[in-house]
Amino acid sequence: MRGSLFGPRVLLRRLREVMAEPISAQERLDKIVVTIAANMVAEVCSVYVLRADSVLELFATEGLNRESVHKAALKVGQGLVGHIAAEAQLLNLPEAQAHPDFSYIPGTGEEAYHSFLGVPILRAGRTLGVLVVQNRARKHYSEEEEEALQTTAMVIAEMIASGELASLSATEEAGLDLARPIHLEGVALSDGVGLGYVVLHEPRVVVTDLIAEDPEKEVRRLEQAIANLRLSVDDMIERGEVAHHGEHRDVLEAYRMFAYDRGWARRMEEAIVRSGLTAEAAVERVQSDTRARMMRQTDPYLRERLHDFDDLTFRLLRELMGKSDKPPELPRDAIIVARNMGAAELLDYDRTKVRGLVLEEGATTSHVSIVARALNIATVGQVQNAVTLAESGDAIIVDGETGLVHLRPPADVEHAYAEKVRFRARRQERFRRLRNKPSVTRDGIEIALLVNAGLLFDLPHLDESGADGIGLFRTELQFMIASAFPRMNEQHQLYSKILDGAAGRPVTFRSLDIGGDKVLPYLSRSVHEENPAMGWRAIRLGLDRPALLRTQIRALLKAAAGRELRLMFPMVTEVAEFTAARALVARETRFLAGHGYTPPVSVRLGAMVEVPALLFDLDALMAAVDFVSVGSNDLFQFMFAVDRGNGMVSDRFDVLAPSFLRALRSIARTAAAHGKVATLCGEMAGKPLTAMALIGVGFRSISMTPASVGPVKAMVRSVDLAQLEARMSEVLDAPGGGSLRAMLEDFAAAHEVPLS
Ligand code: PEP
Ligand code: MG
Repeated sequence: MRGSLFGPRVLLRRLREVMAEPISAQERLDKIVVTIAANMVAEVCSVYVLRADSVLELFATEGLNRESVHKAALKVGQGLVGHIAAEAQLLNLPEAQAHPDFSYIPGTGEEAYHSFLGVPILRAGRTLGVLVVQNRARKHYSEEEEEALQTTAMVIAEMIASGELASLSATEEAGLDLARPIHLEGVALSDGVGLGYVVLHEPRVVVTDLIAEDPEKEVRRLEQAIANLRLSVDDMIERGEVAHHGEHRDVLEAYRMFAYDRGWARRMEEAIVRSGLTAEAAVERVQSDTRARMMRQTDPYLRERLHDFDDLTFRLLRELMGKSDKPPELPRDAIIVARNMGAAELLDYDRTKVRGLVLEEGATTSHVSIVARALNIATVGQVQNAVTLAESGDAIIVDGETGLVHLRPPADVEHAYAEKVRFRARRQERFRRLRNKPSVTRDGIEIALLVNAGLLFDLPHLDESGADGIGLFRTELQFMIASAFPRMNEQHQLYSKILDGAAGRPVTFRSLDIGGDKVLPYLSRSVHEENPAMGWRAIRLGLDRPALLRTQIRALLKAAAGRELRLMFPMVTEVAEFTAARALVARETRFLAGHGYTPPVSVRLGAMVEVPALLFDLDALMAAVDFVSVGSNDLFQFMFAVDRGNGMVSDRFDVLAPSFLRALRSIARTAAAHGKVATLCGEMAGKPLTAMALIGVGFRSISMTPASVGPVKAMVRSVDLAQLEARMSEVLDAPGGGSLRAMLEDFAAAHEVPLS
């Protein structure tokens, strides 16, 4: 085999010398193609680089007509080179002209060559160009030659990524593909516009040292790193720890499967031994191949596993490079880009620097979105391939109003957004002026507007927004950001501060709602739950582990000494659960009284209506409680059987469906008949249109993210409630019917009710 005369190791060593020479980028590329051609005994070696306009431009060649460098160009998908770029897959052909995609590139003189070996130039799964060798003789290139060319392509990928080739292109202004402005569409999850720079939530480890000094040593380093990786995966599984994005066993099992995959380990080792790569480069090489192969899969399950494979590869690279898992230093205007993350992880970032969040997954009512809204971080979810396309430090704009993301935006887009930010600031100012105006409809009905909160930093929002109080205080957030169970004293302190800050305005605490997608890393669960949202969570866990709930109740009672305590329980399914919780509160109250503590002046206890079963026992419920609060996020999830955290289905049905509105109406009516207040604190309270529907079916109290109070108040103050109720009753009293969205939009337009 002629190719093995020198072998990939020799080739790489030569390339390293070329890389070290103090010459221009073009000269270096020219030398590289000569070196490859000589080493592989090929008559032709050419490099094509992908430009931003999806054209592959010939950047250097040995063997073809040099005049055509920077002139010859092919569209992606055109000819063999275009085919390789489009498929991200190598082609090895003894007779190139027999391939259906073959076409001559005019002026290059390539007609004379029969055999053809071309590989994509890949970096982190992205195609940056194509590297080709050709021979006159009809031959099938050996596996070793394929290997050598793929390895060489990595060196060229690094050159392209370094930016040194950009100025060589024939159309310099178009730039290379790597720097192409990209416009992505997703789903708006948290309103706001963020301009800033990409911070990858899990930073890609950039391998720059490709060529091994001592391959044997590299093999040993790889073996050690794999052994460590396996240990850490076993450890994670043993501790039942969730992979960073709060997920399930599937992910951990996939980790284990990959970590112990002998084929994976062998391929990486071969890449060191045969090609002379460093351990890091070998890991990356095999990742690129595997990624390209898995990307071609249409099976969503396998594509999902691709993410897990990537995660594991990064862990292995970090293992090799000794990088810690600590979050990166943030620039001032950071836009975090992630596949997905848990609410607690978002809270780990310095929120004064985070301007935006882009997720490949995520849904409106998933908790990371709720926290993003609470933090006022513009967020767009379900943005496909965001992580692959973004490079750390790239300029990026997140439009949480329309769901658009602009990666490396051109100047005109940036200007348009600077203008949009100014416009939004003016609108904000208008809302601020509403702050001290009452929240009353045109026909004089008062609507209480409350805010949802969960941490101390939410307190200033109460004044800024002009809300009437806190309608939902999610106590679990304190638990989610802690590394161990917050002690009673810590809980007591937080609750006191919140009550102090609220200065007499009502605060409704909710007892711990953990379980579902709200996971506490330190709370070990002995059983794996297939459907955690319907599992052992919220009040179920509270009643089964009364010590936990009692500690919290005690902390709340102490904090509310001499003032009112309002407490509600999440996920109540049967009235008896509420009664049991009430008994716990009574017991703790007696205990504290017996120990000389000042009791609250009043204790008002409520139930959240989140489980459909309660809808059919509303009279008994209302008789038992002091108030209710509808958790429409969960109620909708369970009534419509759509997982609120799953972007594939979470928007499939509309919360303005008549069936859902009828259910809400019956809650509001039954509560009123019993003289009890019904609040609604799910995400639908925070959008003017859906909030309008809520007051239209009878809610006089709604609780939302603080930034929504202004827009919702503007809606309330312009609506004539009697007219709205009449219009909605017409539709809801008749059987059937589709979503009321269009009808309500028309109503708003006809009556000049502002919806944004
Ligand atoms: C809800 O379910 O609507 C709710 C307010 O609670 P959470 O979003 O915290 O589950
Ligand atoms: Mg809920």
